[in-house]
Amino acid sequence: MTLRFEFDNQYAALPEQFYAPQRPTPVNAPTPIRVNHDLAITLGLDPDALETPEGTAVLAGNKIPENATPIAQAYAGHQFGGWSPQLGDGRAVLLGEVNGTDGQHYDIQLKGSGPTPFSRNGDGRAWLGPVLREYIVSEAMFALGIPTTRALAAVGTGEMIYRDGGPKPGAVLTRVAQSHIRVGTFQYFSARNDGASLRQLSEFTIRRHYPEASGPLDLLKAVVSAQAKLVAQWMGVGFIHGVMNTDNTHVGGLTIDYGPCAFLDNYHPATVYSSIDRGGRYAYQNQADIMVWNLAQFATALIPIMGEDKDGAIEEATDVLHGFADQFKAEWLTVFRRKIGLRDAMDGDEALIARLLTLMAQQQADFTNSFRALGTDTARDQFIDPAAFDAWEADWRIRVGSDLSAARAVIVAQNPAFIPRNHRIEQAIDSAVAGDFLPFERLVQVLAQPYADQPDAADLKRPPAPNEVVQATFCGT
Ligand code: AMP
Ligand code: MG
Repeated sequence: MTLRFEFDNQYAALPEQFYAPQRPTPVNAPTPIRVNHDLAITLGLDPDALETPEGTAVLAGNKIPENATPIAQAYAGHQFGGWSPQLGDGRAVLLGEVNGTDGQHYDIQLKGSGPTPFSRNGDGRAWLGPVLREYIVSEAMFALGIPTTRALAAVGTGEMIYRDGGPKPGAVLTRVAQSHIRVGTFQYFSARNDGASLRQLSEFTIRRHYPEASGPLDLLKAVVSAQAKLVAQWMGVGFIHGVMNTDNTHVGGLTIDYGPCAFLDNYHPATVYSSIDRGGRYAYQNQADIMVWNLAQFATALIPIMGEDKDGAIEEATDVLHGFADQFKAEWLTVFRRKIGLRDAMDGDEALIARLLTLMAQQQADFTNSFRALGTDTARDQFIDPAAFDAWEADWRIRVGSDLSAARAVIVAQNPAFIPRNHRIEQAIDSAVAGDFLPFERLVQVLAQPYADQPDAADLKRPPAPNEVVQATFCGT
């Protein structure tokens, strides 16, 4: 067993204004929690070596592997619409980058690894709850087929930190992603009128994520398309990001920053979970509109490098942004058509889908279980007034036509049986804090195959009982 990282550190090769060199701060007593074996192998790492004391020390930030160039990345961002000229990695360091066995390039980042020059008043740490939440949800998103940052490992620090008025066990998450470049990274340089850095960042991003793009306008187009698709996929699994600030909007079209995120249980479009989102800015149904707003900030940041003709550039960028709505609608229809088992497009599909969603909202039907049950002829049980569903189903059957079993096969393949339900995440966290990691482990394992029936895990399909409903999720600090 050898722990060797074949680093290929490209971000650290950018000029100094892109980051602050920063080593993780060692912790008292690194303890292993979980290593993601499959992902380790994709990264060309030996998973067993990551589980040795040496591996745990690396994952806790106590040992810096050879050829690492640890840095905290600089970025800015709009948080809940308010501008912050400097955010940056306040509790994370990018250890280095590797070339995966799948041909992709990956950042390996420690999150919760101690203060950095970007920490402001924060302690640079994370507690076990948000670390397990991010591990569970990001890996579930991956298994659902939705672009996302991933979790390579979680380790305990053996230190207590203070959150929500009390001591909590500290932890470090190893986050892996094709990059950590955010809309806020572009905003950081644009706001400083640093056109040269902006140009470098644009070229770096194109090389990393969109090699076919030929310049900033093309980059904008590519990011708009990627995000239209991403948000439609979120909608399809009932995902609410919860904190869609521009610093949490990834230019590669990945889901990033699992703070107060949650999945819908019963369907209601206005659902919000985040305790800090009092106005419902990031509610389920607002996510596409908010994404356009975030992309408008991205476009604004790019204008200075879109050529001499400012008015022309603004006009072109505006046209691209206006294209988001149609792209999102098309992606949304693709996702929801499949959810009801349709393999082709017909006029009236959107109305048919909308009628079902309205029924689900009126009758507080469980989003995940209702769609999945359409595949097994048991969906009417999900509705308080099954007769209302029966009327919809009659029309749906007409639309589906003769090949009902083919439609049902599409439904079962497209609609997960398992999502990371908030009450289960909370229960897994509570158990882990008390020293029992088995519920966390089980959740991770079941969610690795969200489309498989897994009869032994039927309890994880159940929506929360009234006393299990989690009213709010808190920011991952
Ligand atoms: P987030 O809400 O996780 O997207 O973080 C927003 C900003 O706050 C980022 O710049 C983070 O690095 C920073 N931040 C969040 N939590 C902490 C913490 N405990 N210590 C230092 N910085 C933090
Ligand atoms: Mg963030």
